[in-house]
Amino acid sequence: MNDTPALRIESLQVAYRGDEGERLALDDLSFSIARGEAYGLVGESGSGKSTVAMAIARYLSSNGRIVGGRIEIAGRDVAKFERRALREMRKRELSLVYQDPARALNPTLTIGRQLTESFELAGLRGTRALDAARAMLRRVKLPSPERALSSFPHQLSGGMQQRVVIAMALAKEPSLLILDEATTGLDATVEAEIIALLQSLRRESDTALLFISHKLPLVTQLCDRVGVLERGRLVEEGAPAQLFAHAEHPYTAALLACLPTLGRTKRDGPLPTLGDAQAYDDEQAHDADERGGSDALRAVEAGLRAMEAAGRGGGIGGGGGPRTNAPILNVTGISKAYRIGTDTLQALDRVSLDIHAGETLGIVGESGSGKTTLAKIVSGLLPADSGTLTLDGKPLPARVERRSRAQIAAMQSVFQNPHNALNRAHRLHTLLGRAVGKLARLRGRAREQRIHELLDAVKLPRARLSARARELSGGQQQRVAIARACAGQPRMLICDEPTSALDVSVQASILNLFVELQQTRQVAYLFISHDLAVVRYIADRVVVLYRGQVVETARADDLFARPCHPYTETLLGTTSAPRRTPTSDTPTQHGCIYASHCTVSLGLQCEQRVPADIEVGDGHIVRCHLFGPRQAHPRD
Ligand code: SF4
Repeated sequence: MNDTPALRIESLQVAYRGDEGERLALDDLSFSIARGEAYGLVGESGSGKSTVAMAIARYLSSNGRIVGGRIEIAGRDVAKFERRALREMRKRELSLVYQDPARALNPTLTIGRQLTESFELAGLRGTRALDAARAMLRRVKLPSPERALSSFPHQLSGGMQQRVVIAMALAKEPSLLILDEATTGLDATVEAEIIALLQSLRRESDTALLFISHKLPLVTQLCDRVGVLERGRLVEEGAPAQLFAHAEHPYTAALLACLPTLGRTKRDGPLPTLGDAQAYDDEQAHDADERGGSDALRAVEAGLRAMEAAGRGGGIGGGGGPRTNAPILNVTGISKAYRIGTDTLQALDRVSLDIHAGETLGIVGESGSGKTTLAKIVSGLLPADSGTLTLDGKPLPARVERRSRAQIAAMQSVFQNPHNALNRAHRLHTLLGRAVGKLARLRGRAREQRIHELLDAVKLPRARLSARARELSGGQQQRVAIARACAGQPRMLICDEPTSALDVSVQASILNLFVELQQTRQVAYLFISHDLAVVRYIADRVVVLYRGQVVETARADDLFARPCHPYTETLLGTTSAPRRTPTSDTPTQHGCIYASHCTVSLGLQCEQRVPADIEVGDGHIVRCHLFGPRQAHPRD
């Protein structure tokens, strides 16, 4: 047996050059990973996690360099690799999977071409490479592998793209696989499947894993050991279960406290955070103005009061009024299908829901369930095939260009990746000024005042107004995106995975911000997330989507305490029924959409008859044959 570690890092120092000279991003970092071992690396944004991955693969950006220490892969010093040896090492021994699959996929080539290329590099040819590609897509649980092989990346959802990237990474059977927040954008079900896949990979091969993630429970599940990074230094290391249960370092304990646990709700108060608005990117360090927590809180309260006052003065959608029974938004019978080659994918099928002032409606469901399609349709970015939208009882045009200024200002969107939504070259003042001018029609001093109020509301220092978006951390960019969305004092925000790309501390501060805005201004949220603990924390009601259909709607308390639909039970991990191999990957044409995967199917009845929506409690509606007129849980 070869005792040489798959990875050994010794006294590593990495620095980035900035306006004010070099700054150490990693300092005296040492750890090793044995062959077949899984090592987790955790820490908040800016702690240096991604820099570790970049340094190992020698992918540091042009302003970064290794200033000390040593990195060995399978006993070989990475720094000494010539260009060709480096290319070979990246091709055969090392696989890197990032959070954003778009970085790894070529948009002009089909998935089949890209995946077979990976197998060709591993020595397979022709139909053998294609067969291996097909088998690998099944292994990563991609629905309809045949269709995926002939699809281009943009025709797959983000979750599906990431599974393809993981398939490509596994194809070459690397000795070291680095996953840098690779499952962060996936929904809970797919993420669990990918983790199970990685666990089986570890049993089948001696591939070593470096698993970089802000999801501490996943690290516990997958890794043999974990290291905690704080500002480039390893402050604690050990077996995850032991380390997280008995954290010795205060930083580890503080990191753990930021996590919303599944039982926690916004009624329990704000989540703890680690220094709001002071995180910085690995590669874009900057001086975040420091402000004490109480000062920040006073500032946000003042900002929100000012926004309220402006709203009472006749601004767009004043908000803050008492909750009324009339919903702000009605979605009725929305359907949307996509054509993929000769196939049709029904992304949404007669979806209906409503949202009231001051309410958070959570939308959950696995990758491909239609969550993002729904967000795009409500945002006016994608027209539905059929169905209607109304805002405050008035018809809402399908396309955003046809909506009135007041409608656009009243309903804004916040998406997962703020860097896609913001022009990174623009200064904050420009980004916010334009939004205030357009959505609130304010000019001159009134405009400047609103910009300052918005910055205060999202807890960004006013001194940052001259900073360009690219100089901000991911969390700060998301704050800017939220501030911009609030420029016209919206009554409702459509939030599509708004915290998925953020580490636990920044996520906690953004969730607290959403709750504060809601409590003060009665803002309503259509809140899409694959993170059930986040939805549990922030949502008042929850809609469960499965393959484009609403299968269950309930108050969040009811849904999490007493899920009824078999799919919801699986999603929440609460089912006690044995898992059953699906009879088919394709939903039945005539019966229940979930019949081919259901563990408690009633057979022909479920396969041939579409279940009706049954109310089983106060506003608790479930679409399943198990629930009949007696309106009780059939498994009681
Ligand atoms: S209707 Fe039948 S197949 Fe569908 S979820 Fe209910 S029991 Fe399962």
